[in-house]
Amino acid sequence: MARDPRYDILFEPIRLGPVIARNRFFQVPHCNGMGHAMPEAHAAMREVKAEGGWAVVSTEECEIHPTGDLSPFIEARLWSDADIPALALMCDKVHAHGSLAAIELAHNGPAASNLYSRDVLLAPSHQPQKYGFPHQARMMSKQDIAAFRGWHRAAALRAKQAGFDVVYIYAGHDLSLPMHFLQRRRNQRSDEYGGSLENRLRLFRELIEDTKDAVGDRCAVAVRFAIEEFLGADGVTMEEARDVVAMLAELPDLWDINVSAWHEDSATSRFAQEASQEPFIDWVKQVTSKPVVGVGRFTSPDTMVSQLRRGVLDMIGAARPSIADPFLPRKIEEGRIEDIRECIGCNICVSGDLTMTPIRCTQNPTMGEEWRKGWHPEGIAPRHADERILIVGAGPAGLEAARALGQRGYEVHLAEATRELGGRVSREAKLPGLAEWARVRDWRVGQIDRLPNVTVYRESELKADDVLAFDADNVVIATGSHWRRDGFGRSNTAIAGFDRHPIFTPDDVMDGKIPPGPVMLFDDDGFYYGSVLAEALRAAGQDVLFVTPADSPASWTANTLEFPHIQKRLRELEVEIIVNHNLVAFDGAAATIADVWSGRTREIACASVLSVTARLPNDGLYQDLLAREGEWEPAGIKSVTSIGDALAPGAIVHAVYAGHRYARELGEMLGAGPAFRREIIRSAG
Ligand code: ADP
Ligand code: SF4
Repeated sequence: MARDPRYDILFEPIRLGPVIARNRFFQVPHCNGMGHAMPEAHAAMREVKAEGGWAVVSTEECEIHPTGDLSPFIEARLWSDADIPALALMCDKVHAHGSLAAIELAHNGPAASNLYSRDVLLAPSHQPQKYGFPHQARMMSKQDIAAFRGWHRAAALRAKQAGFDVVYIYAGHDLSLPMHFLQRRRNQRSDEYGGSLENRLRLFRELIEDTKDAVGDRCAVAVRFAIEEFLGADGVTMEEARDVVAMLAELPDLWDINVSAWHEDSATSRFAQEASQEPFIDWVKQVTSKPVVGVGRFTSPDTMVSQLRRGVLDMIGAARPSIADPFLPRKIEEGRIEDIRECIGCNICVSGDLTMTPIRCTQNPTMGEEWRKGWHPEGIAPRHADERILIVGAGPAGLEAARALGQRGYEVHLAEATRELGGRVSREAKLPGLAEWARVRDWRVGQIDRLPNVTVYRESELKADDVLAFDADNVVIATGSHWRRDGFGRSNTAIAGFDRHPIFTPDDVMDGKIPPGPVMLFDDDGFYYGSVLAEALRAAGQDVLFVTPADSPASWTANTLEFPHIQKRLRELEVEIIVNHNLVAFDGAAATIADVWSGRTREIACASVLSVTARLPNDGLYQDLLAREGEWEPAGIKSVTSIGDALAPGAIVHAVYAGHRYARELGEMLGAGPAFRREIIRSAG
């Protein structure tokens, strides 16, 4: 199909200093949990972005010196010449598809850890390490500043040698020295690097000048600058940022602008909509004539065009939309808008970096598997044989299995008990703030609708007899899970009184049953459910007491950057919060909670309990079929496999991955040992 002419503007080349980007799609720096430790995996992941049409593909933060060591987080690294080949690998792969390779040089000062290098942390002034580590950063002397400029320059030269076309100076997210020097709260110096804005900006300016001087002949020099920190006078404010942009306006070849901190920049769809940064960044182009790139979880080509036409941005920056769909630009270019796998804004991708493991994505199960499993976001092997597959359950696992098996060319039959497809995704997307999650269902249903070899049966609850009579070669059980009502979870095997009084579960709330208030919401789970359900109950007018054995509500959401937003939201909604307490009994009118450290108990009156503890697989059908294994062969069945929540309840990302993995591996001879390639380090420079 031809491209819609209204999107032509997105494909106009643009000059960035000495280089030219072939279109307006810019994959801005994003972490990935692979970095310097997994260079092959990293390069392959960046390569699919270039292949998918992103004109510029950037690394994540790249450490330039051991004093800015980010361990245990795994970022890029250019400490010495020995680090060049790993990054040259990425440049070669990005160049092979006609794209530019960018690198984000970074020294995180007091936000580094130095856990690996054991060096002393550096900062504009003496101060504690940012994340609560028990060591401080020391004030940099003038000699330190000169040395730092030398390290940055050396790293820029190494980047050029590796083949990069765009070299960043990073002043964002409260994570890097040029920004730390700018912040009054971190910079109490009285020399020419402290005090006035001109002085606090000096290091940033010098780094741009140094980098232009070192590599500007062949590389574009970009700055990544956070123009609002939401901290009032303690942080960079938009007012001050205007002066900064005005003072440095024409110095860099490209302005990449965003807001800080990271959780504000990469807010989930629960807390920020597409293009939500526009009110903060729309003035930058009036202050500089240099190209401006910005982000906003852009997935709609019309929104992108509007950003360019209205003069907000010159290039469409994206991290998450490029993760969910590395082929987004090509799909727009080829007139295949409906094929775009839109990011749902869940930040599971971020959790890869924060848990120090390879990046994964809810929408794109191939993310992070490009090299180690050879998975491609668009390509998949043809079917191994003319087989007929029956999938039971159309949640994210069943839908993805049906889609990918259909893509492979199998004859696929997908049976769903209810009228609505999507399983848990359809149910959860109706909870406050989670509407965008329906994209997981919508993209898959859209793809399946166009596959003539996939048949969907709604309102078709299958029993073992139905499955055995279906004449399928392979059966996939993707029947999902349900929340437990007995209190079993991390903290309890059972809770006294749960067997005698009606207890509500998240399934009840999703079924529209609102517990009578005041409600004690017992969250022994720690991810998003508790806080979302609290919002739903408040919206229904109930008083909510949120009790958790953890140190804070929703503690795992620190890995999706939602934690601060959730804490704020719960307080805005006047949800009462009691942490470090376990629920030990409920008598129908009051609950007994116990301090997890002292064991001291107290009684709290409540009309109902909403128990968010753990789930159980809906594995009745699977168990019935296992019990009748002797009938499989006569029925022509070669395999029965349970996947997704029906095997072990997890997050939506796990269900999608399970469906995809099943489809990839059907008919493959899998040997013993790890199911993926590993990068084994033999020596280090
Ligand atoms: P997952 O996250 O693993 O995909 P979900 O809970 O989202 O699981 O989806 C499971 C789906 O399976 C639900 O839509 C449910 O209605 C459906 N289902 C459960 N049991 C049966 C059955 N026996 N026959 C058909 N569909 C079923
Ligand atoms: Fe988007 Fe979620 Fe994928 Fe991240 S994990 S790219 S937020 S869909």
